[in-house]
Amino acid sequence: MSTAQTSPLRAVKGMNDLLPEDMRRWQWLEATVASVFQRFGYRAIRTPIVEPTALFVRGIGEVTDIVEKEMYSFTDALNGEALTLRPENTAAVVRAAIEHNLLYDGPQRLWYFGPMFRHERPQKGRYRQFYQFGVEALGFDAPEIDAELLILTAQLWDALGIPRAAQPSLQLNSLGLPAERAAHREALQAYFRDHASALDAEALRRLETNPLRILDSKNPELAAVIAGAPQLADFWGEVSRSHLACVQRMLDAEGIAYTLQPRLVRGLDYYSLTVFEWVTDRLGAQGTVCGGGRYDGLSEMLGGKPSPAIGMALGVERLLALLEEVAPPAVPRDLDVYVVPVAEGALSQAVHLASTLRRAGLRVHVPGALASLKSQLKRAAASQAPVAVILGESELAAGQAAVKHLPTGEQSLVAHRDLPSTIQALLARHA
Ligand code: ATP
Ligand code: MG
Repeated sequence: MSTAQTSPLRAVKGMNDLLPEDMRRWQWLEATVASVFQRFGYRAIRTPIVEPTALFVRGIGEVTDIVEKEMYSFTDALNGEALTLRPENTAAVVRAAIEHNLLYDGPQRLWYFGPMFRHERPQKGRYRQFYQFGVEALGFDAPEIDAELLILTAQLWDALGIPRAAQPSLQLNSLGLPAERAAHREALQAYFRDHASALDAEALRRLETNPLRILDSKNPELAAVIAGAPQLADFWGEVSRSHLACVQRMLDAEGIAYTLQPRLVRGLDYYSLTVFEWVTDRLGAQGTVCGGGRYDGLSEMLGGKPSPAIGMALGVERLLALLEEVAPPAVPRDLDVYVVPVAEGALSQAVHLASTLRRAGLRVHVPGALASLKSQLKRAAASQAPVAVILGESELAAGQAAVKHLPTGEQSLVAHRDLPSTIQALLARHA
């Protein structure tokens, strides 16, 4: 007989288990966020987790961080297809909209929730599998929709119970129209070529591929040279200026504070005009909770008809970390009744009575084995169920059960057939 130890298998690094205690908060968050999306007329969509690699290479852009170094890409061993675990969901939602002709009936407001995958260095607020909520407003070109999306986000902070002073703050910029970006890009390239000796290796590489991203550099030694670089704002034409002005005017009217952030460029290629991030200073380095922008050119890049659009994505782990920090949510309880069988033979009775209570819509826990009254009542209290139904020797013999309201200690003897109505009345009285 072998006594060799097998070491337990572990989850993939940077990919987290969500245990039942975590799931209570997650499901509360999912429900709250979904209800705000619905208020604004967004409808849910769910796309596959695996997509053709080409979707992201084309949609996100070849020289972005995501496509260069963060994608989980693999070859389908059975048919040789190049596939990728989705690193984000905008490209996939637009693909689905094109594939199913969703815009045939007019513009669409869509939302999604699900896991995304990026091969990053795991740290607080940065994981390899993480979750995003996102909304995509497809087929809208008016700047009012940009403002509406930001209003939605502001209402979301309120709905989640984040006090005003602790809410993420809005950073806003415009990336202008493609031709303006191209002219700015040339000016940037010329400027950085003149200052090549002040750049680091990463920036030198970006110089030829994506000079805009140099502005995004986190290297403090580049701060001075970046500060002197040509500003995209100087290249904005009338359309870009008035689009941004409308968004600003509407935010002002709504009382939503923002900072114009000329160096906010976002990590993806497909943006134009409005871009934004909601940032908190309460989570350390990973402070961007939500980011988004307008991507009027994406549909065409993916082979669809021209279709202006704007969207955003929220990092769920970061949002929950922020809530934990500033406004721990009072998550609703998930049990109504905890059954406590103590007498010999009471376990069968417990399962049977619980079944009646459950049919009446109550959420009921039945233990897997008999135990002492004291230890079971302790577990009942810990479960946060407000009602314990105790099945002891004398109660069983009399066809009764003791119903105990745990928060007040109130207790009464109730005939088995009256249990559902008595417990419902008790819960209603203490609601
Ligand atoms: P960052 O600059 O932090 O890498 P990003 O620009 O790559 O963020 P987006 O692609 O805009 O992020 O994704 C939207 C949101 O998703 C982010 O604001 C963040 O809250 C969350 N997010 C992005 N990457 C991760 C990750 N690896 N782990 C956890 N959350 C993430
Ligand atoms: Mg990133």
